[in-house]
Amino acid sequence: MIRRTSSTMDRMHVSSRQLALLVPLARLRFALRTRMRVAHFAPALFACVLLALASCGDAPKAKPNVLLITVDTLRADHLGCYGYARDTTPNLDAFAKESALFERAYSMAPFTAPSHASLFTGMYQISHGVQFWGQKLAASAPSYPERFAKAGYRTAAFYNHPGMKSCDLERGFEHRELRVAEPGDPSIDGLLAWIDGRSAQGGDVGGPGASGASNANGANGAASGAANAKPFAAWLHLWDVHRPYGWRDWREIPDVLKPLFQRRELTFAFEEQRYGGQHDVEVGRGEQFYNVHDARQRQPISVAGSKRVLDERDWQFVQDRYDGGVRYADALLGKLFKELKDRGLYENTVIVVTSDHGETLRERSGCWFTHDPYLYEETLRVPLIIRVPGGAGSSHRELVRGIDVLPTLLEYADLPAAGVQGHSLMPALRGEKLPPQVLWARTQTLSAKESERKIEAGKGWLEERECISDGAWKLIVDRETNTAALYDLVNDPGETKNALHQPDAQPHAQRLQKALDEFGKLQKALESGVELDEAMRELLDNLGY
Ligand SMILES: [Zn+2]
Repeated sequence: MIRRTSSTMDRMHVSSRQLALLVPLARLRFALRTRMRVAHFAPALFACVLLALASCGDAPKAKPNVLLITVDTLRADHLGCYGYARDTTPNLDAFAKESALFERAYSMAPFTAPSHASLFTGMYQISHGVQFWGQKLAASAPSYPERFAKAGYRTAAFYNHPGMKSCDLERGFEHRELRVAEPGDPSIDGLLAWIDGRSAQGGDVGGPGASGASNANGANGAASGAANAKPFAAWLHLWDVHRPYGWRDWREIPDVLKPLFQRRELTFAFEEQRYGGQHDVEVGRGEQFYNVHDARQRQPISVAGSKRVLDERDWQFVQDRYDGGVRYADALLGKLFKELKDRGLYENTVIVVTSDHGETLRERSGCWFTHDPYLYEETLRVPLIIRVPGGAGSSHRELVRGIDVLPTLLEYADLPAAGVQGHSLMPALRGEKLPPQVLWARTQTLSAKESERKIEAGKGWLEERECISDGAWKLIVDRETNTAALYDLVNDPGETKNALHQPDAQPHAQRLQKALDEFGKLQKALESGVELDEAMRELLDNLGY
């Protein structure tokens, strides 16, 4: 009975997004504020039902360490262990062989802040409150480090985006190291030093107002004994895959990347002449490929900037750079795993490797090399690989989501999961089948329609899209244009044909639309102050999904 209730609830969460679509654009700010208010009490509303699901299981006797790794912008299909033909991820492939690999894992948003907030809280956006930069993690949404600190863990974050701070996503980590868009190397070193007790054991390192190197060098030697006696829960966030792909000086190709580009494929060195030197890749909008910039001058490179259409070599060039970032991140993780093994920590650490979203490369004609605006597979499907101590390799085809990560960690560590809205994936690790779940993801970002000039001037408006998917079909609704599209993910995995008006697809369209509608009702009820129990009961009766 508990399972049934939970599953139905999940669908209601998905459908609540429909309400957002009905709010006119002019009311956007008001609507956001309204949803923020909802966000503050929604966790409590759902807690009682979900609590029962999240705390069973056979936890180990000793508290395991926990390491959550998010490789920003890493789309699942560019990893070897997810079927990519290129040898981008030899270290993660080896790691996956002794881990649970979830083949169809989805982020909750194609957007860094809300996606991380869902990973940290196990909650939907309306509950944790982070939908855009600057929106704070709701005080009522307990986060990953707060939950583990309460259980006696020491906690730390090593991350690469200052915007995380603007959303309070670093809240609850007792030790924080921010490195803005740097290579991952110093973050790995910082993490290991913190694990060893060689560095400071609290406060901020890097970023505005931090004490910086003196703190990093660790005047806090006395803390190391006590630090090592406690289990740790850490977050490592790597930026190496994110735009601008290949921010390093590619004229000095790191040794680790050379094997990847030795074959007939393009090499960065050869591309120097074609594109005129060191450069970044930035977001491309519209038909013009203005988005290859000189990294030093920040000016469009003349050759590419004048092109109206990208040729195959251009596409290959960008993909090479993206894959180079993937390979570099993989090498960093290989190093990290080895260091943990050398310290005897690998076997008592739960390690999760995932991402906050994927990336669209050449799939969409309107906007290239970005993620925020799109809810397609390439921007939502992420790797999710979980290794528990003594872990054996397994792979799982059920749809799983970002909100399912935290409850999995909590269950493994035998910690309470009150308020969490996702479902633990531990049954899969025990060899059981996971119950079917539905993805409800959404995004809110700068409009792709606006001119670059307007966006630069800070006048770009927001756009909102949401999607609901059961893994076989996906309904994407665009609130800005009040349009919808239905995709058959089995027969059209590239999401190229809108099947919304196809007669044989109508049952699927209706089923997904109904879930959206029902969730919209729940949200309306919450906004009008109706008690949750009453609203829930009514919706449970109405669902029949
Ligand atoms: Zn991101």
